Amino acid sequence: MLSARNLAKAFGSNVVLRDIDLDIRRGQVVALIGPSGSGKTTVLRSLNGLEVPDAGTVTFAGSAASAGPGLAIDFSAKVGKKDIAALRDRSAMVFQHYNLFPHMTVLKNIIEGPVQVQKRPRAEAIEEAERLLARVGLADKRDSYPFELSGGQQQRVGIVRALALKPQLLLFDEPTSALDPELVGEVLGVIKELAEEGWTMVIVTHELAFAQHVADEVIFMDGGVVVERGPAAEVLRAPRQERTKLFVKRLQ
Ligand code: ADP
Repeated sequence: MLSARNLAKAFGSNVVLRDIDLDIRRGQVVALIGPSGSGKTTVLRSLNGLEVPDAGTVTFAGSAASAGPGLAIDFSAKVGKKDIAALRDRSAMVFQHYNLFPHMTVLKNIIEGPVQVQKRPRAEAIEEAERLLARVGLADKRDSYPFELSGGQQQRVGIVRALALKPQLLLFDEPTSALDPELVGEVLGVIKELAEEGWTMVIVTHELAFAQHVADEVIFMDGGVVVERGPAAEVLRAPRQERTKLFVKRLQ
């Protein structure tokens, strides 16, 4: 469904990504792990145009459901606003710090993208938002403001907001690392259900036990390169590379 080749990115003289390749099949769950600063978030943000790589390509297959024909972007060539908008349309991001609009109710936060950006009918967007809120156990929080919710509830709203965009691909950027430990489970539970439902997702996470449980493939990054990749059980349980071994041992 998604193929990225030779993604490269530098911030000034700081080379953050080198020759990153990614292939994600429909329904696959990929966990990106690695030390802080290894480039995981930059990969994720590059997949949906929040960062623009300096070089490389991203190709999305067509989608019968919503997104229409395929999309191919070559970052070595000139990339226009239209390309970035088309790329952004394919995926939706769940952020570490939820990034809800503080002055908007839960409902407004969720329908903002579908109504304002995707131009979907407001009534339909509200109906969908209510359905999704009920799914994550937050039907009664529709008219609350983010500050009235716990971190776990805010992140569940963050997930609903992403789902409401009906993206081809869900991107999670350390979705539980800002949460108090007792709230982590409720968010991981929702993500696990989405995986079981067949959503295609890329998850940046430090929760290695969760990654092993939910991911089909684990990619270990360090210093802006992919050091090792493979089935979750292999990379996390029986890594081949020394750097992976050290990282996995430290976290278990
Ligand atoms: P990770 O998600 O693995 O912690 P990141 O992708 O967030 O790693 O960061 C990789 C490197 O890129 C870090 O050195 C970070 O400081 C740098 N970086 C990330 N975003 C920016 C930015 N917008 N401007 C400058 N440097 C950045």
